[in-house]
Amino acid sequence: MQIALVEIQRRVQARVPLPWIQVDPEWLRAQQAAGRPLVRFREIPLDWTDFRLTFRQTADILHRFDALERADHQVIVALGREGNLLEPLVTRWYDATSGVDAAADPGARQRATGDAPPSVEHVLVLAIRPFLARCAEALAQRMDLSTWTHGHCPCCGWEPDFAVVTPAAERRLVCGRCAAQWLFATLTCPYCNNDDRTLITSFATRDGRYRVYGCDICKRYLKAYDARNAPRPLLVAVDTIATLPLDAAAMQRGYQG
Ligand SMILES: [Zn+2]
Ligand SMILES: [Zn+2]
Repeated sequence: MQIALVEIQRRVQARVPLPWIQVDPEWLRAQQAAGRPLVRFREIPLDWTDFRLTFRQTADILHRFDALERADHQVIVALGREGNLLEPLVTRWYDATSGVDAAADPGARQRATGDAPPSVEHVLVLAIRPFLARCAEALAQRMDLSTWTHGHCPCCGWEPDFAVVTPAAERRLVCGRCAAQWLFATLTCPYCNNDDRTLITSFATRDGRYRVYGCDICKRYLKAYDARNAPRPLLVAVDTIATLPLDAAAMQRGYQG
């Protein structure tokens, strides 16, 4: 399933143009100081025909591999066909989950997807990735994100779902929605900011290639590629798939993704 998803994303991303994101330096400083990300919805190079297709294909793959129930799949695919429903839903959902403008109120995220089943969020995250990833690329080339110290993404506000330990023994988090990377304290939990290292359980695979950090406060875990002494840099698509057995190991120890 992961391989099929990566395949679609690669195909779509190759068609998406690199956006020119105009950022006023004052605004950039204010956003960063407030812990708010930088990509506004209007800056995402979304081609709606392409997005709708990616959205439907993603739902089909999740359904085919039993990661999406039949009833949910039907509702979601119908949503993808009706242009006048999907566009406002995606706009509202991005605004409610990015936090670019201001902290959205707690109900905004749920209202954004309306009557759609909760599983629609999984499909949205995967379907918007090829478009958002181009924004993250554009920003990484032009902006200094080194002052960002938050657990959420400096580009789109989503949470990390992977990490890499650099040869300098620093840890970079990888956003689960746009794949942007940013530095974050090695033994702090990005999900709840727990920085008591006695309450972070970290273990490595036998070959030392991968690590898992489990937080004993919020019970969530994060996987990482250890690039110290590694023959190649992080390849998010490859390493996410290579570490699927680690998810089972982390869950066995009582952590959740
Ligand atoms: Zn992001
Ligand atoms: Zn935590």
